[in-house]
Amino acid sequence: MQTLVDTTSHTTISVGALPWEDIAACRAVPNAADLFFSEDIGDIAAAKRVCTDCSVLAECLEGALDRRELFGVWGGQLFINGKMLTVKRRRGRPPKVARPEDQMPVVPIPVHLQATAQKRSA
Ligand code: SF4
Repeated sequence: MQTLVDTTSHTTISVGALPWEDIAACRAVPNAADLFFSEDIGDIAAAKRVCTDCSVLAECLEGALDRRELFGVWGGQLFINGKMLTVKRRRGRPPKVARPEDQMPVVPIPVHLQATAQKRSA
């Protein structure tokens, strides 16, 4: 990244800085919207696993909380009807033997967002 000084306004301008969205892990996922906005538990778990390796998880989650996202996986957290859910179950009776594909990864919430996230949790 290169920093230039605008002599007219006496401000600095960063050149070559990538917006955080450009380095998001989900950018490399084909048909990411189908995965991150799916209602299928297996898809949701897969989306959350992508987030666990994302270097901009905090920025993503902070944005989602600020915008009051209604649906989808953002920053490793699942939003449904504007609430953050830690658990989502399939319809009907729970299986006697847990399905491995239903295991939701627990993605830690960055410390500075925990209070806000707590208010949005269902
Ligand atoms: S944390 Fe956000 S930007 Fe990163 S992979 Fe997950 S949804 Fe995409």
